Amino acid sequence: EAAGEQRHVALFLLDLDHFKTVNDIHGHAAGDRLLQVAAERIASVLPPSALMARLGGDEFVAMLMFDPAGKAHIEALAAQLVTVLEEPVIHDAQQIRIGASIGLALATEASATMDTLVRQADIAMYHCKDEGRNRFCWFEAGMEMAVQVRNQIETGIRSGMPRDEFVPFFEPQVDIATGRLVGFEMLMRWDSPEHGMIEPDRFIPVAEDSGLIGELSLRVVRHAMEIAKGWDPSITLAVNISPQQLKDPWFSQKLTKLLVETGFPASQLEVEITESSLFENLPLVRSIVTSLKNQGVSLSLDDFGTGYSSLSHLRALPFDRIKIDRSFIAAMQGSPDAQAIVVAIVRLGESLAMPITAEGVEDEATAIELTRLGCAKAQGWHYGKPVSAAETAKLLADRGLLRSPLVPEQDGASED
Ligand code: C2E
Ligand code: MG
Ligand code: MG
Repeated sequence: EAAGEQRHVALFLLDLDHFKTVNDIHGHAAGDRLLQVAAERIASVLPPSALMARLGGDEFVAMLMFDPAGKAHIEALAAQLVTVLEEPVIHDAQQIRIGASIGLALATEASATMDTLVRQADIAMYHCKDEGRNRFCWFEAGMEMAVQVRNQIETGIRSGMPRDEFVPFFEPQVDIATGRLVGFEMLMRWDSPEHGMIEPDRFIPVAEDSGLIGELSLRVVRHAMEIAKGWDPSITLAVNISPQQLKDPWFSQKLTKLLVETGFPASQLEVEITESSLFENLPLVRSIVTSLKNQGVSLSLDDFGTGYSSLSHLRALPFDRIKIDRSFIAAMQGSPDAQAIVVAIVRLGESLAMPITAEGVEDEATAIELTRLGCAKAQGWHYGKPVSAAETAKLLADRGLLRSPLVPEQDGASED
């Protein structure tokens, strides 16, 4: 019909943000009410000529014909939809807040198929969610590329895991005053036969979104523990734990099992978590952390200074250590502001009895400045880049810090 009239069609795909949480927290009656209100509001914004439906769950769809010159009008409608869906809903005397992410796809000719339109709107909708929700986005061809790359990474993770393509690298951590080596942070690498060594920022987010991070992390952490068992007991191993993993009620048991099976002492292990882990289910995270701490594992707050940097988050869990994000350390030379922030965090750590680790120390001048400020530990390229297990063993052997310098590998093999 639109093609006959030389008009275009816009397809709106709306997905309510955080709907599942509303169901979980306020119950299904509240969820039902919310869906009804959302439907009424959508119908109140769109013209009667629009075709509207609920696709299922918390997804709604609408189609609208418009004149080729009227794209701005479609965008105005989408913006209005975002606004009305942001308004709180009153249920049982409670204000429930949600929001919506809207993907928009455009059909300009008769050859456009329904399948393509819905898929494009879906891709645009997910793009909105990544951009921070509560907004609308038009589909663009580049987004499809991004989806394909993402799918390739996900497939690669699934097939690479059993082939042990994911390996631990280790970055030295030193006592800043004496320069003594005190531990390593394990940083994951993907040793891909096709693409070479891949940095975690490329694949960890995909592993998180696709629910693979739990298994991936435990595999590599196990490997790291087997390696670190050969280190001198004074050398700690720090591992990064994703917020997704702290949603798993069995996480503490899973990590404990690794400690038992590898024979790595809990007291040598440090778990690094970021502030974003504390947003969703603080009681669960607290119980996981408490159980780990009871066994002697210590807890660091990673990347502090970015994100919310909330003081109540610092007190929410029994952190043993704060790690200042490398963006502040990198900016220290020549930026009095960055320096003031570092000083403030160091003082804060002192008063809360949480020693500080500075990340990303790249030069001598920064190291000297941090010593002067009383920062306890540091890591960064000035002290050493993340390196493979073999290179780490060499580094430790040179300092006499390997337990059995001749046969570290055979230890593990004899137990298998
Ligand atoms: P992070 O935990 O903050 O790790 C520090 C990152 O800073 C590492 O990047 C490290 O290579 C980099 N870095 C260290 N020193 C310097 C320096 O002097 N200058 C500069 N420019 N960079 C430095 P990497 O290895 O790419 O890791 C990035 C992030 O990926 C990590 O940030 C961590 O959040 C995540 N990650 C790494 N391994 C794992 C893992 O096993 N599990 C999870 N969940 N996340 C991981
Ligand atoms: Mg870290
Ligand atoms: Mg960090």
